[in-house]
Amino acid sequence: MRAKRGNREFCIFALPPCDCHASLAIDNLVFIYLVMNKIEHIGIAVRDLKAAGDLYEQLLNTKIYKTEEVATESVKTAFLQTGPNKIELLEALSADSPIAKFIDKKGEGIHHIAFEVDDIKAEMARLKALGFVLLSDAPKPGADNKLVCFVHPKSAGGVLVELVQEIR
Ligand code: ZN
Repeated sequence: MRAKRGNREFCIFALPPCDCHASLAIDNLVFIYLVMNKIEHIGIAVRDLKAAGDLYEQLLNTKIYKTEEVATESVKTAFLQTGPNKIELLEALSADSPIAKFIDKKGEGIHHIAFEVDDIKAEMARLKALGFVLLSDAPKPGADNKLVCFVHPKSAGGVLVELVQEIR
């Protein structure tokens, strides 16, 4: 699968390998591996951010370092850091927020796992080519200075997966 960035053309390796490998000889074609760098955070849906924040501060013995509203998703978030790991607590800001719908259906609990990527657009293209269902066609601004895109749980083994790229 090919992707263009500026005037350079990239071949994005997918598993199984894509069939444009044969084009190795093309001058400005660069082969790159795309990886999910690490789990960036785990998102937890909560009814009451204040109460859940108090609970997680006690549980993890650390303080919330940031709270932020994400209007496009109709959520209020709070972040805690524990060692190298981040927990994102999410409270719905309206009844039609995806978080409100999730809690209505499943109750409070783990909502999504977010993976950090270097190039969210290229990673979205790679996953799309493999048949994963993405919840948006383009990356959206998310909390904590990130561009984000979600992968539908139906195409990801029942887990809502979030791709996040730091806004540089
Ligand atoms: Zn998240």
